[in-house]
Amino acid sequence: MEEKQHFLIVSFPAQGHINPSLQLAKRLARLSARVTFSTSIEYNSRLNTSSSPPTLSFSPYSQGKYDKSFKLPDLDPSDLLTELASAGIKSLTAIANELAASGSPVTCVIFNFLVPWARDVAADLAVPAVLYWIQAAALFRVYHLFFNGHAEKIINIATQEKPTSEIALPGVPTLQVRDLPSLLLKKLTVDELFFPAVEATFQGLSRVVLVNTFDGLEKSTLTAAGEAELVAIGPALPSAYTDGEDEEDKAIGGDLQRAEDEYMAWLSAQKEGSVVYVSFGSHSVLPVSEREEISKALRESGRPYLWVARGEREGVEEGEKGRVVEWCSQVEVLASGAVGCFVTHCGWNSTLESVVCGVPMVGLPQWTDQMANCRLVEAEWGVGVRAEKAEKAELSRCIELVMGEGEGEDMRRRAKALASLARDAFREGGSSDRNLRAFVRSPMGGLT
Ligand code: UDP
Repeated sequence: MEEKQHFLIVSFPAQGHINPSLQLAKRLARLSARVTFSTSIEYNSRLNTSSSPPTLSFSPYSQGKYDKSFKLPDLDPSDLLTELASAGIKSLTAIANELAASGSPVTCVIFNFLVPWARDVAADLAVPAVLYWIQAAALFRVYHLFFNGHAEKIINIATQEKPTSEIALPGVPTLQVRDLPSLLLKKLTVDELFFPAVEATFQGLSRVVLVNTFDGLEKSTLTAAGEAELVAIGPALPSAYTDGEDEEDKAIGGDLQRAEDEYMAWLSAQKEGSVVYVSFGSHSVLPVSEREEISKALRESGRPYLWVARGEREGVEEGEKGRVVEWCSQVEVLASGAVGCFVTHCGWNSTLESVVCGVPMVGLPQWTDQMANCRLVEAEWGVGVRAEKAEKAELSRCIELVMGEGEGEDMRRRAKALASLARDAFREGGSSDRNLRAFVRSPMGGLT
């Protein structure tokens, strides 16, 4: 490793973006590169930076007038992206100048989608800018096709075909129409708001794109012909769950909320594979009526459960066998051995965490890439099932299918086999380990 190498990792301020970006930062730092991690001022102040390697430091960027609040009702559609880009460029440039003045200039900028302006800073510094794709490689291909001549075709399919019709897109596993990313189809206000930032991400892409996945999971998509070279460097999880080299490295450290204390003791008192874990990530909140249906299904299952219900509790039943928390250290929960089924929205981080821990899933996808991830879980890897509706009978069917005899046993066997592939990816000489080391030694990694 050349001493002068210095990665500036720029992350959009959202839990699902920060977690994989922080893990990449730690991995690069462990390869003894210097790394500066940059996200918004507010989110940076909530990170747990105590267990970071010594070569990793934190320098937040400004979001201008959105430094005070970055919540939906306060975001002004007319100037949101220009304000984020202009404030971001200004403060990231100042950070880079300070680093250069301190004798450690940035040699490569790595950014995730929604912060495409980081590329402009890299251009000014005359260093490479590399996209770190934090969703499935399959989704990268869908977005790439969309922004490279296939938008009309994809929109036509989405609007004219039945939701369950299958679509064959080159280099992408067979999806159904309903699995197409909501962001591309601008189905929600938030999709509309951020669509131009996604579009900008796909303009002027570097040849190499780093992806938070691993060869054993998405081999055919990764190797499919395409303009970008997709380099799998995931799963972006702490060492204790992947290569096993650092058993103390267990928490992601990116949590924007504090986990409660008591649930791990409760979890460790439960039988192996007996608990249903329910969580819909950091963003989605299900309607009360759906929470009531989940409560009924959990009660009927008679199984112990741990439910992350952020914010509102109406409709969320704790009952005798349940524990309800505001937030938990999810990866530690999934790795505990007690969890036998994850009822999830299929966010990509949650999906990967479940894969690494060998826990089969019941998918209740909500928006963006979650429907496609759920499809991969069910149809490609056979480690879970999609709940067609958030209704008691359907949820009960799915939970029993995953945790019961017969098909459930096959699912659990496949989940264990996939988990073993996931852990191999980061062992010394494993595919992601090799890919990451090759990247840092390459000119794209900032070596001249
Ligand atoms: N997470 C957590 N504790 C919780 C809920 C979520 O640590 O109680 C973490 C989870 O482990 C994952 C991230 O938050 O790393 C959520 O990312 P994901 O892509 O699954 O969903 P999003 O929040 O982006 O919808």
